[in-house]
Amino acid sequence: MSRISEKVAYLDGLMEGLEIEDAKQKKLFNAIIDALDTIAEELSDHDDAIEELNDSIDEIYDDMDDYDEILYGEDDDDEDEDVDDDFFEVVCPSCGETIYFDEDMLDNPDGLICPNCNEPIEINIADKPEE
Ligand SMILES: [Zn+2]
Repeated sequence: MSRISEKVAYLDGLMEGLEIEDAKQKKLFNAIIDALDTIAEELSDHDDAIEELNDSIDEIYDDMDDYDEILYGEDDDDEDEDVDDDFFEVVCPSCGETIYFDEDMLDNPDGLICPNCNEPIEINIADKPEE
């Protein structure tokens, strides 16, 4: 039983214990608890669905690894090797985040904007990668 279901069950028991005499109030509380119960059930269904989706995604990733091996004859352990050719990294002076830019972005007349904090970043030309 989920934590939400436990709490709803607790409320249900609490209400029984109160022995509410006003029939209208009792009806209202019953309806509220019933609604909460329905919400708890639906959330639980969603959890199951999300878990199934996660499993499917895992399977897809596993399959993709297989295709990588077939296409490139390698598994993904060494995939970082060819990433850095057109990118270089800059540490943002404003937020300290390491940002990866490609060279085309250097030609932007507005300069570079940190995607993390949206502050402009000054680039020292010496930081540019060798051609
Ligand atoms: Zn930043």
